[in-house]
Amino acid sequence: MPPSTALIDRYGRKIDYIRLSITDRCDFRCSYCMAEDMQFLPRDEILTLEECARLVRVFVGLGVVKVRITGGEPLVRKDAITLFRDIGRLPGLRELVLTTNGSQLARWAHALRAAGVSRINISLDSLNADTFRRITRVGDLDKVLQGIAAARAAGFDALRLNTVLMRGINDHEAEDLVQFAIDHDMDIAFIEEMPLGEVDHARDTTCVSNDETMARLQQKYALVSSTESTGGPARYWRIPATRTKIGFISPHSHNFCESCNRVRITCKGELYLCLGQEDKVDLMPLLRGHPDEDAPLRDAILHAMQIKPQGHDFDLRRTQPAVVRFMSMTGG
Ligand code: SAM
Ligand code: SF4
Repeated sequence: MPPSTALIDRYGRKIDYIRLSITDRCDFRCSYCMAEDMQFLPRDEILTLEECARLVRVFVGLGVVKVRITGGEPLVRKDAITLFRDIGRLPGLRELVLTTNGSQLARWAHALRAAGVSRINISLDSLNADTFRRITRVGDLDKVLQGIAAARAAGFDALRLNTVLMRGINDHEAEDLVQFAIDHDMDIAFIEEMPLGEVDHARDTTCVSNDETMARLQQKYALVSSTESTGGPARYWRIPATRTKIGFISPHSHNFCESCNRVRITCKGELYLCLGQEDKVDLMPLLRGHPDEDAPLRDAILHAMQIKPQGHDFDLRRTQPAVVRFMSMTGG
């Protein structure tokens, strides 16, 4: 048994942030995230919402103060709002946040706010309806724009766009997306495409480095380096005379593993210690095998800290993906 009841790994990093994927399903099929013909898990192989709530409660008991609900698309899960309400009530939790593609936000924004969600990251890769459709394969840009407006109307003042630029597809839109963020008083984070899961293009042909994006944006904006952090891997830059920060999440060009404070839980209850490695602990058997006793679950989570890897080793030149599971499986 590890000596501590706090989540500290063998490199001394304190884990106080979990990302929980509540479904592998999605109403989009973004080409960098999913294959066109995805097989989704049967429903009995994914955690129930009650099991999700119990897991989060145990993690919060171990010192976790921030929970991000993600997916797949979390808002396509039936009754997901009940989970937000359950988690939002947990004493000790400081931040309940959400990552969504925005397609269902117009319907759920008010209820999410009432449930205690404090911040939302909304993925938006293009402002052109055709390009948006090309990237998401099936998505409707208007619905996402309505979702963003609904989130604002519901009182969310901390909104961030998440953007993946793909060379030759949407990389020319970097400035327009930043301008959209400025016009809507939002932040924006550029995420470098990561080799997660087998997709139908060679990632090294599409991945745009954040150094390149930054150089491009610096021609238009006098970016000022900021020490602000939202507790994640993004490095932020301020745009003077606006309320917008630009974040860069750069797993390739600027490794952020040293300060990693998080673990991820898939919708199957697998606790992944690193987005880019295979090390994991299966929590579902413990949840189902000990329905009335949290101690075995707690012990397994504490022990898992001993196998958290030092870092990922993404290499876009490899012909095989770094890890075979898609981002929609592990939760972005
Ligand atoms: N469906 C929600 C959404 O799109 O925001 C939440 C899940 S999605 C997996 C979370 C984030 O991961 C999105 O911002 C998406 O752009 C990003 N993402 C997915 N696959 C990625 C990849 N291979 N490399 C980099 N980012 C990726
Ligand atoms: Fe769905 Fe999000 Fe993946 Fe796009 S990035 S396919 S919206 S899970």
